[in-house]
Amino acid sequence: MKLVFATNNTHKLEEIRSILGDSVEILSLKDIGCHEDLSEDSETLEGNALQKARRVKELYGVDCFADDTGLEVTALNGEPGVRSARYAPGDGHDSKANMSLLLENMKGKQDRRARFRTVIALLTGEEENLVEGIVEGEITENPEGHDGFGYDPIFKPTGYEKTFAEMSSDEKNAISHRGRATQSLVKLLRNRKFI
Ligand code: IMP
Repeated sequence: MKLVFATNNTHKLEEIRSILGDSVEILSLKDIGCHEDLSEDSETLEGNALQKARRVKELYGVDCFADDTGLEVTALNGEPGVRSARYAPGDGHDSKANMSLLLENMKGKQDRRARFRTVIALLTGEEENLVEGIVEGEITENPEGHDGFGYDPIFKPTGYEKTFAEMSSDEKNAISHRGRATQSLVKLLRNRKFI
């Protein structure tokens, strides 16, 4: 069995391959010769995940899945959410600028609750399915820790005294939004007798 993951992110590919083992071969966009920068211009995580997976299906006619993640902060009405990668002005993907802006916008807020949410859209045959993974936590007052990426230094998961950036990758993957969404994807693939 082969399944395309609409990404070239090696960390994400390794994570899912290690969970799935030999039961299914996971191919990246590069593996299928797709060099298109897949658009994600929807207003929701679900919309973006579906948009990317549908594009791959349309171009290559293969079974595939795509993901999208956002940090949803309660006191900011769910922002940065779907705009997490490009929250601060500029080209986007500047983690330091994104974190600084978030901490600035959280100044004086008592309610520090936040959650990471990952949505995965799976397209197999004629079927479209969505799964999600959530980790609840809070935004710290200052960045702590140097590991990880994105908003990791300012996100402390509920029940832990350290941020994602202070955890080992194994420790983070076991409880993270993406780890949980990936586990749900595996369950779905099993239910569909795909693996
Ligand atoms: P993506 O959909 O996986 O590309 O994630 C979108 C954005 O959300 C990233 O650019 C990061 O800013 C943020 N993000 C996603 N996952 C994580 C995480 O595990 N830790 C910290 N930030 C994350």
